[in-house]
Amino acid sequence: MSYAPPSLIRDLQCLVCGSTFANGDLHTCPNCGQEGILDVRFDYDAAQKALTSRSLASRPHDHWRYRELLPVSPDVPLPHLHVGWTPLYEVPRLGSAIGIERLYLKDDGRNPTSSFKDRASSVGVLKAVEFGFQTIACASTGNAASSLAGLAAATGLRSVIFVPQRAPEPKITQLLMFGATVIRVLGSYEQAFELCRRACAEFGWYDRNSGTNPFLVEGKKTAGLEIAEQFGARLPDWVVVSVGDGCTIGGIGKGLQEMVRLGFIDRMPKLLGVQAEGARPLMDAFLSGGALVPSETNTIADSIAVGTPRNWRRAIHQIRESTGTMISVSDEEILDAMRATARLGGVFGEPAGVAGVAGLKKAVALGIVESTSSAVAVITGNGLKDIQTAQKAAGVALDVSPEFDEVKRRLNEKGIL
Ligand SMILES: *Cc1c(COP(=O)(O)O)cnc(C)c1O
Repeated sequence: MSYAPPSLIRDLQCLVCGSTFANGDLHTCPNCGQEGILDVRFDYDAAQKALTSRSLASRPHDHWRYRELLPVSPDVPLPHLHVGWTPLYEVPRLGSAIGIERLYLKDDGRNPTSSFKDRASSVGVLKAVEFGFQTIACASTGNAASSLAGLAAATGLRSVIFVPQRAPEPKITQLLMFGATVIRVLGSYEQAFELCRRACAEFGWYDRNSGTNPFLVEGKKTAGLEIAEQFGARLPDWVVVSVGDGCTIGGIGKGLQEMVRLGFIDRMPKLLGVQAEGARPLMDAFLSGGALVPSETNTIADSIAVGTPRNWRRAIHQIRESTGTMISVSDEEILDAMRATARLGGVFGEPAGVAGVAGLKKAVALGIVESTSSAVAVITGNGLKDIQTAQKAAGVALDVSPEFDEVKRRLNEKGIL
């Protein structure tokens, strides 16, 4: 890396009580406990001078190009894996199937471990190194786990991962392959989360849980920074994101707001947060305007099967600030979106990865999103991460003996010739 500008981090502020704290190894607010998620604040006047179209033009195309707005020390070397600056595709055929005038996909399945979570894990491992930890741990529905395992492997840290029973096998294989110690909890994500928190406190491990670690959401916000820089004046009306814990949409919202502050875009797009019908506590809190009530989780979209979202306040705050809204989709609608996104957009996403596309389709049908508007859906994870569910959506191959006549006969049967 030829440049290492300093982080312009200023302090940490509690989203509940508003107290501010000096930058350091903090998790949640010392006054408010677990509920008090801390928000990292930066010196935006200085950032506006340092981050311009001109200065960015000569920087590498990964998410470290926004280093001044990331909470990372210039003294810690960056992981060598390529994170961020994921491609943006215009997909007119998928757009017309959904009924919207202009549609884009931002394919975050193209990150090094094939999900959006690499944005957060790459910051998490740097914080662990900066604070002098040798082991980093997290509880995860799957992607944060494989992502942390991959980034820890690239950084030389030991990783310990707590996953719930329902985590898909390919994700577990992925993190075992990266050398993580895997603790499969015969229980829910929430139970895995509590065990991990205790283990970190007792064994002196760095806690990468993005719901409570204030630095990780800063990594997630880079998708918002990128959307603003990649689109510029052509920024779409809506940014569509699937929602579990709420860190992804909260982070993207923060990134977009920062780019308004820096003058890269002149308005905030509306955020559309999409949950699964079988796990929608955050949407219910959004609609009721009250506190979050934990729910059951029952959906094929394992990555957003979160019954007790940790970052619900930030997510709801960002969606309201953007004058956006939330919607929920059934598993059937998610399977439909998997097929449509792959067949009409050429991008194969996992269930939670395409839940945004399913939600957008429904929002257009219900008139919540106007058909004359434009949107970008963030595809948050690659489809090969959950083969079993993908098989439900994909259909089957035509088995034939190695005879040309049989090939012809089967194609005729299927109406393909
Ligand atoms: C984690 C995840 C999400 C949701 O992010 P939250 O921060 O939990 O809201 C969406 N899609 C995929 C593929 C994920 O792994």
